[in-house]
Amino acid sequence: MHHPPSDAEARRAVAPVICYPTGTLPRPDLNLYRKARESARQVASLRIPPRDARAFEVPKGHFFRISCPDGSQVGDLNLFSAADPGERFYSGKTRALHGTHLSTGARMWSGFPWLRPMATIVSDSLDWYGADAHGGRVHDVIGTRCDPYTHHLLTGGQYHLCCHSNLTRALDDAGFAPDRAEAMVHDVLNVFMCTGFTADTGQYFMKASPARAGDFIEFFAEIDLLGVLSACPGGDCGAEHSSDAAKCHALCIEVFAPADGALEGWSPPQANGYDRSHGLSRRD
Ligand SMILES: [Zn+2]
Repeated sequence: MHHPPSDAEARRAVAPVICYPTGTLPRPDLNLYRKARESARQVASLRIPPRDARAFEVPKGHFFRISCPDGSQVGDLNLFSAADPGERFYSGKTRALHGTHLSTGARMWSGFPWLRPMATIVSDSLDWYGADAHGGRVHDVIGTRCDPYTHHLLTGGQYHLCCHSNLTRALDDAGFAPDRAEAMVHDVLNVFMCTGFTADTGQYFMKASPARAGDFIEFFAEIDLLGVLSACPGGDCGAEHSSDAAKCHALCIEVFAPADGALEGWSPPQANGYDRSHGLSRRD
């Protein structure tokens, strides 16, 4: 342990600066989305069995709703561009832009070089939760996904129904070769999961999700999407994951198409405008 300098408290008292002020971030027109959603009709629905995952497609300009119709259940969501699955959700940059947990108005951003909104959250029945006394919030972009490798590292066990494996099987079922399917799985949006970091040690914690049967979160698809969603083996993640111990429920995905003309004025976001030269020519 090193000795603190004499001005340690003054150094700790320096005010934080927001890394990425979002004042210049392109804003979604939530009023337009809300009106379009009112006109929308359901065109698809899919049930995801407990401890399993399914792939689904959402055309751009459509809405999709994730719900837990039977009881509290955490879901692990991956998103890809349906046109090019190389473009996928970038949890880390989404966190840097919107914070550790997402709710209405936040967007799910894709990775480089695209860095554009893939989906915008338009409604969240858990938006009342806010932050609890432990610093817990809902719908995190900090927790990666439960996986059999970390489980093996910590316990030596073999468990095959972690979200990482569930998502791998769903992508395999969607037609991607097994080795490619696993490599496609990426850090998730933890839908309905209540998480935070402990104040004393800074460790990632989870607690029972406040979601009840019927809770939902709804998204607007900014581009053509391929999604995969896993019903986490942790159930409400109130005790443990990576096992068959927790009571688990199904999740539901519904897709809604807006009425013709309801999105007038909206257009899908373009790929990021950075020229991708990276200063390489300066080295000549
Ligand atoms: Zn999980």
